[in-house]
Amino acid sequence: MDSISRKSILKTHKFSFVGIAGKPNVGKSTLINALVGEKIAIVSDKSQTTRGRILGIKNSDKYQFVFVDTPGLHKGKKTLNRTIVKSAENALTEVDVILLVVDRIASSKDKFIYQKLASLDIPMILVVNKIDLLQSKKDIDKIILSFLEFLDFKYVIPISAKKKSNFDYLIESIYLISNEGEKMFPEDYISNQTEISKISEWIREKVLLETKEEIPHSVAVIIDNISENSKYNSLDVNASIIVERASQKKILIGKNGQKLKSIGTKARLDLNKTLKKKIYLELWVKVKKNWSQNQKDISNFGYGG
Ligand code: GDP
Ligand code: MG
Repeated sequence: MDSISRKSILKTHKFSFVGIAGKPNVGKSTLINALVGEKIAIVSDKSQTTRGRILGIKNSDKYQFVFVDTPGLHKGKKTLNRTIVKSAENALTEVDVILLVVDRIASSKDKFIYQKLASLDIPMILVVNKIDLLQSKKDIDKIILSFLEFLDFKYVIPISAKKKSNFDYLIESIYLISNEGEKMFPEDYISNQTEISKISEWIREKVLLETKEEIPHSVAVIIDNISENSKYNSLDVNASIIVERASQKKILIGKNGQKLKSIGTKARLDLNKTLKKKIYLELWVKVKKNWSQNQKDISNFGYGG
């Protein structure tokens, strides 16, 4: 880097919307949480966890980057999945920079995703995540080379979202690509996640944590009622967990209600921490037959927006 550009780096304030793209489960939500420095998106080892578009903002005196966490890009067949993928694609057309997050070598099966990304014509950074799990530099190189066959990148940055490694390089490369611009959001505005959306998402995260694959794709959480008790700095929350079949309801409630109790306890403890309030949580499980196939239900439950 020559001295002139270094000077301009120090001087210019930059702004970008940064889309975080990638297949389900590569660590997109973990990355946005780590970048922003607090939990705004739920993380799960089950795929297709993130449903809406979540903004997380990182500020410094030299930049404001608005990260957009998107649901994973994949071929959606079911109505809910299609709606979610569509919302991911829409979100990505509106950003200034795209981070393509990957954790393994490219597959020709995903060619349609790569073609879509290439057609957007937005500068891209290849982010190879989970390097804490990779054995050697050779493994990382293999992954990088496999993607270079399909796409062009401005930068390639190996990171671990979990360990927050190489974040300096990642931020610097985003900075270098970004255009000059003022801050568009107040500095204390960290995320578009409201208290209500956090509560329902955190509950959903615990449902995913406590159940196996038969539940995740068909669970929605609705907040029925919230009342604030300012005297005790506490929140009373009534929420419904919506599933598609009576058999799923039985699983979620568990023997003697143990499963639901455990979901409630974990959600409450996590929410206490995030919202810095005492939470009283009452959970119900309800069946809404095949809601994930029904466009109206999907919108009413607040997904895919
Ligand atoms: P998303 O579907 O792309 O949003 O992925 P998530 O952020 O929900 O993460 C999927 C899984 O990968 C979770 O179990 C995370 O804990 C895990 N994960 C994410 N980043 C890393 C990382 O850097 N290292 C390791 N070892 N695991 C990670
Ligand atoms: Mg996610």
